Amino acid sequence: MADFLLPAAFEEYSDARKAGFLKVKAAKEQGRKVAGCFCSFTPLEILDAAGLLTVSLCGMSPETIPAAETELPRNLCPLIKSSYGFYLTDKCPYTYFADVIVGETTCDGKKKMYELLGRGKNTYVLHLPQGRDVPYAREMWTEELRRFVRYLEETFSVQITDEKLREAIKQRNALRAARCRLMELLREDDLPISGTELYTFLDGIGFNFDIDDAIAKTLALADDLSAQKSQKVTPGGKRVLVTGCPIGGVFQKVVGAVERAGGNVVCFENCSGIKPSRCMVDEQAADPIQAIADAYLDIGCAVMTPDSKRFETLPALMKEFRADGVLDVALQACHTYLIEGRSIRDICKEQGVPYMALETDYATADAGQIDTRIAAFMETLGE
Ligand code: SF4
Ligand code: SF4
Repeated sequence: MADFLLPAAFEEYSDARKAGFLKVKAAKEQGRKVAGCFCSFTPLEILDAAGLLTVSLCGMSPETIPAAETELPRNLCPLIKSSYGFYLTDKCPYTYFADVIVGETTCDGKKKMYELLGRGKNTYVLHLPQGRDVPYAREMWTEELRRFVRYLEETFSVQITDEKLREAIKQRNALRAARCRLMELLREDDLPISGTELYTFLDGIGFNFDIDDAIAKTLALADDLSAQKSQKVTPGGKRVLVTGCPIGGVFQKVVGAVERAGGNVVCFENCSGIKPSRCMVDEQAADPIQAIADAYLDIGCAVMTPDSKRFETLPALMKEFRADGVLDVALQACHTYLIEGRSIRDICKEQGVPYMALETDYATADAGQIDTRIAAFMETLGE
């Protein structure tokens, strides 16, 4: 059995973090290879079919940002700095033990960060087209995924067959459907779960690497909540749709502020919410790689120009979840989302739904100010 070394600073880590390291170490000792990824555009089915355990490496904590700032510019988004800081400090078990880090050509900051990561870790960067509407985007992305398949087969001495891909597609679709079923419970007037509880569950289940178990637990919670049929959260609270950047690192500041102001977040449009969960892959397609490429290319993200999918989806989601207001959260220095905010504001205006833009980072210094601003926004809803 192969032996894997723990980081030099292991003994200084908290018990929870130590447990994380030991869990991944045990998986590696059993022969499991680990892939780390950062983005909803990562084709999980291909990694599943290659037999890799895939985990998100997106940094959501401010604790590693000072370390990252020794190498990266300070005026970079906190997600990139936090993620890179976890690599520099060996504080994330998944980054530490990753056999491959899968990056993508999304925003400039991430692209260049992957180059630095590649100096110390085995890193593979997927070249994503910059828009889905150009005629060759679909062909280019499909070819890019075929290149990825060849890379994984050669690097890990595995065979990625159509049969394995089809199995992975079915399983990932089932997980997406389960997540959607849970999130769609918040379409109701009587909310059986708060936005905070929902987000916390969805985030946590993403780290359950037994996908069938994750599906079962998600469906069990959805069944349970449907059966209760009891309103647990603020009666009559204003309904807010959250869009924009990934919010894992600012979630308590932002979603908590909505709830403290008596409202409810009823829809998370962004990554780790409904957006990637509705990216269903065609299970009947003759060519599974083509089907995976088609589904992933249809993810709305501000790195695309134009971001036609997000522009089409948002009005429909506002109606589906009967949003009283839209909160567009951009992480500091995320140019793509900050600039796109202008278009999102116009879309909300056309829909007659109040819009608020919020730029923040992982520090707590602006928490009080965010509470005040969101409370003022909530008071304007439904006037
Ligand atoms: S917001 Fe865009 S770039 Fe960021 S994780 Fe989501 S899909 Fe990827
Ligand atoms: S939040 Fe924006 S700047 Fe940060 S990684 Fe995502 S797309 Fe890039």
